[in-house]
Amino acid sequence: MQLVCSVCKQKYELTAQRYKCDCGAPLNLDQSFSFRVSDIEKDDFSLWRYRKFLPVENSENIVSLGEGMTPLHLLKNLYSGKLYAKLEYMSATGSFKDRGASVMISRLKEMNVSKLVEDSSGNSACSIAAYAASAGMDAHIFVPFTNSKVKFAQLHAYHACICSVPGSRKDCAVAAEKAAQDMCYASHSWNPFFVQGNKTFFYETAEQLDWEAPDYIFIAVGSGSLLLGTWLAIRELYQARVIDHMPKLIAVQSEHCAPVRESMEPGWESIASTRPALAEGIAVAAPPRLAEIVCAVRASDGGFVTVSDDEILDAALTLAKNGLFVEPTSASVYAAFMRCVNQIGQDKTVVLPLTGSGLKTGMLYYDYFSAKNI
Ligand SMILES: *Cc1c(COP(=O)(O)O)cnc(C)c1O
Ligand SMILES: [Zn+2]
Repeated sequence: MQLVCSVCKQKYELTAQRYKCDCGAPLNLDQSFSFRVSDIEKDDFSLWRYRKFLPVENSENIVSLGEGMTPLHLLKNLYSGKLYAKLEYMSATGSFKDRGASVMISRLKEMNVSKLVEDSSGNSACSIAAYAASAGMDAHIFVPFTNSKVKFAQLHAYHACICSVPGSRKDCAVAAEKAAQDMCYASHSWNPFFVQGNKTFFYETAEQLDWEAPDYIFIAVGSGSLLLGTWLAIRELYQARVIDHMPKLIAVQSEHCAPVRESMEPGWESIASTRPALAEGIAVAAPPRLAEIVCAVRASDGGFVTVSDDEILDAALTLAKNGLFVEPTSASVYAAFMRCVNQIGQDKTVVLPLTGSGLKTGMLYYDYFSAKNI
């Protein structure tokens, strides 16, 4: 198995230390295989039913907490076409990041890694800490001071070594990269195995729709690991003729922090804000894979949408009124769908991954309702 640079195409042997190209760009796996429906392990009800297409050689190294196979729930009252919510928050740690973490940690176990470093504003750190705990590895997690308290507590519970870094999300990444000089940098935004894990999101969606691809998928984009995993799976299934068209990918960001929009629409700038963004999970100012994200959105003939905090909160309350309690970051995709619904038409099939549980930001909702005296 080799790694290949996403920009200059330089190839590297796979090692636990190598996480970027000498040119500075992120690496991907250099793979070629053909997806076959008959290769799915139908008796496995986790994402490991797709193990034939995942980069772990020996099944004994699989570190699983039963992630994946999340419900694809039809939201009957909210759209005249077919609007599905994929309930990604129904995973061991409460977010979709368990997909990437399960595959990445399994691969690192295969490479005999026992200590790793990650930096995150929340959910990916929780996932990586949980899977590292389950695999008996030490996880050193760098988190920004402003991190949501519940995610902080969750990290502690998983016995992670926590380094709280004053300053921005970027200062945190710099500190982690420094620590990674003598540990494996298991970063959800750099590590190609994390993206590989996330591709199962689309395998499942397609399988649940009986291999009929949806027309649109709205994806909240921070580092882009879910969008890029989805795009990888779309291409694999399309090339293997398992699906007959490609869904359009709509990248959703908060107007507080929208590097995808800035790069696709030169001249546009995120609104500067003194408060932390409500959608904390997608407040990533400089995602390392930005160029790949823009490329994927364009190639899918999709687009990008930015949404305001008010729209996000409204969307979260509408989803909750329909029984789905998600964190604001997740609700951004429904807000974006509402923005676009007139443009896309009334008869499409649309999928919204609901990425994180509302319980993760329970205090935020508590404060909101307390302030309204409800
Ligand atoms: C991390 C996260 C996202 C964004 O995922 P990326 O892979 O970083 O783009 C979206 N929603 C939630 C709840 C998250 O935790
Ligand atoms: Zn390169």
